[in-house]
Amino acid sequence: MSHETLDAAAGTLPAEAIDAIERAATSAHRHEELFSERAANIRQSAVRDVFDISMRPGLVSLAGGSPYLQSLPLDRLAATAAKIIAEDGLTALQYGSGQGSEELRTQICEVMAAEGITDALPQNVVITAGSQSAQDVATKVFCNPGDVVLVEDPTYVGALNTFEAYQVQVETVEMDDEGLVPEQLEARIAALQLAGKNIKFLYTIPNFNNPSGITLAAGRRQRIVDICRSANILVVEDNPYGLLRFSGEPLAPLRAANPDDVIYMGSFSKIFAPGLRIGWALVPEHLQRRYYLAAEAVTLCPPAFNQMLVSAYLRDYDWRGQIETYRGLYAERCAALLAALEEHMPPGTTWTRPEGGFFVWVTLPEGVDTYPLLRKAIDAGVVFIPGAAFTPSDDPSNKLRLAFSAVPPEAIAEGVRRLAPVLQQAIAA
Ligand code: PMP
Repeated sequence: MSHETLDAAAGTLPAEAIDAIERAATSAHRHEELFSERAANIRQSAVRDVFDISMRPGLVSLAGGSPYLQSLPLDRLAATAAKIIAEDGLTALQYGSGQGSEELRTQICEVMAAEGITDALPQNVVITAGSQSAQDVATKVFCNPGDVVLVEDPTYVGALNTFEAYQVQVETVEMDDEGLVPEQLEARIAALQLAGKNIKFLYTIPNFNNPSGITLAAGRRQRIVDICRSANILVVEDNPYGLLRFSGEPLAPLRAANPDDVIYMGSFSKIFAPGLRIGWALVPEHLQRRYYLAAEAVTLCPPAFNQMLVSAYLRDYDWRGQIETYRGLYAERCAALLAALEEHMPPGTTWTRPEGGFFVWVTLPEGVDTYPLLRKAIDAGVVFIPGAAFTPSDDPSNKLRLAFSAVPPEAIAEGVRRLAPVLQQAIAA
């Protein structure tokens, strides 16, 4: 704040507040040289910025990929939480195993069995603070600065933030309507290895990719793992949405037939409650020791109370029924979004048709940059995430992500009605 503005404010602000502002202004650049190179690489997440804006009353937010928690049995959960503290408080509030509670790891194996992974054992699982933290640990354990991680184009912004924080060189591989293109992956690996690059892993979201909603076709799955295996690259399979399929046939995870080549990541954030921050990694046996030690070095142990609540939920509640409820709900919302897009989107616009998950990916004609459209959309009363957030490059993007998970069908339709003229104007310009 300038001195003039401070002087103008002096009549209205108490003296201590002015002191605090002046202190902040003079210390803004202090200790700048102490930051690590890694810290300089940490990007502000566009998604978080928009997340804050989207809380404003009156806005329709098609931005945040939040689950619709209103469908959870909150009263019963409150009673369960109270019971845990009353009957088992000394365990719930104490440190616990660095790998996570054995009871929950055993239950996680059941959840993975529902996905088609039938050979997982509790000792192969480490519980993490969301799958975000599992990604962080994988990057920490495998990547030196300058190493390469391959990602789908587009990919999850949170993973990009993690990779960039570890000074990883992120390289994208093209997707089409059937997901990652094997030939492109093969060619990219060959070119990078020829250039002497150390490629550590492929990070992939095979089911209902965030942000595109695209699913990796059955016929490509084994081929992708085989390509990575023959190039001596690991696969990191991130599957938080897999159980939320509302149309088409379930597909086995890449991990199912490839226990030695795939680190699999799962989460309770989308099928139960993201606020509990409970996710996990299923780690090939030969990689476990260092992976587990690294996870422990981050948090000592995952939160005991939260693990107990998730355990009780899986033990005493109809969690499969809840997933069915979510599927029905998201199917309806996705249909509402697709119908509204059909009705209102200007010519030249295309979009994906997901079989599950939370997201639809909209493509505008070449040359339209969706980033500056966000401000206009907010003025029109609707929020989305511009496509540029989901790639490592700084190039403008003609794509945008719409999330249907957290908004009722009527509001989704209203959001698209508000968005359409903004896009129409940009296309016409
Ligand atoms: N991976 C993907 C693909 C996601 O979409 C998200 C959440 N948006 C995460 C990981 C992080 O999930 P968690 O809450 O388990 O950290």
